Amino acid sequence: MPLRLIANWKLNGSLEFNDQWAENFFKNFSNSNLKSIGIAPASLYIDHIRKVIGDSGIEIGVQNICDVESGARTGEISATMIKDLGCKFSLIGHSERRIFFNESNQTISKKLILANNNSVMPILCIGESAEENERNDTHDVLKFQIDEALKDLFEASSLIIAYEPVWAIGSGKIPNPEEINSVHKMIKDVVQSRFPKIDLKSVLYGGSVSSENASSLFAQEHIDGALIGGASLDGKEFAQIANVFNELK
Ligand code: PEP
Repeated sequence: MPLRLIANWKLNGSLEFNDQWAENFFKNFSNSNLKSIGIAPASLYIDHIRKVIGDSGIEIGVQNICDVESGARTGEISATMIKDLGCKFSLIGHSERRIFFNESNQTISKKLILANNNSVMPILCIGESAEENERNDTHDVLKFQIDEALKDLFEASSLIIAYEPVWAIGSGKIPNPEEINSVHKMIKDVVQSRFPKIDLKSVLYGGSVSSENASSLFAQEHIDGALIGGASLDGKEFAQIANVFNELK
């Protein structure tokens, strides 16, 4: 199964954290299917994470790549470097990047192209703000974000989309699972109808996923998996979410 459960550790972690996380995760994970799981640690720790998870099959990815391949971009990491290190995926356009680093849909589009050129699976993050949600603009906002991000992509590109309502991230609030399901269906329909040659591997949900709400989410047909921030920082909690996923998907 392709990537379906991604841990986004954001700006968290340390050598000690990584060791503890792996110990807690493997103690509590009750299945042998690790192929659908990915971890996006802070890039500095990729090598260490690889040592602590061994050859378990968990994929390692990054939280961001630069929108150019190389050159004068102090502090950045390129898709080529990610590929060089054997990383399999990159989050692209996370709302925190859009908000704190002013990432535009145009920049995101360039990152998607570079990820595809380097066989790094892009996980395109899209989502509406609280105000847009209150105005019932969710579908229009998502369609716009998809159009802008995908319009310059080569026909044969592949990607994963993560639907992450900005107001649900880290807030403990999530939309009703049926609503999420219908948004995911809409996302699949839009990509299929406007970009029929693009291979959309799956649509993940992200925003306050926990072991408590996981079964109500994974019971939905079009919720193919999850992108998990806060709850993924606890190896035991993340293992419990993965156990629910393996029961239902
Ligand atoms: C995220 O930031 O991608 C995310 C889903 O965060 P959280 O699970 O903490 O809401």
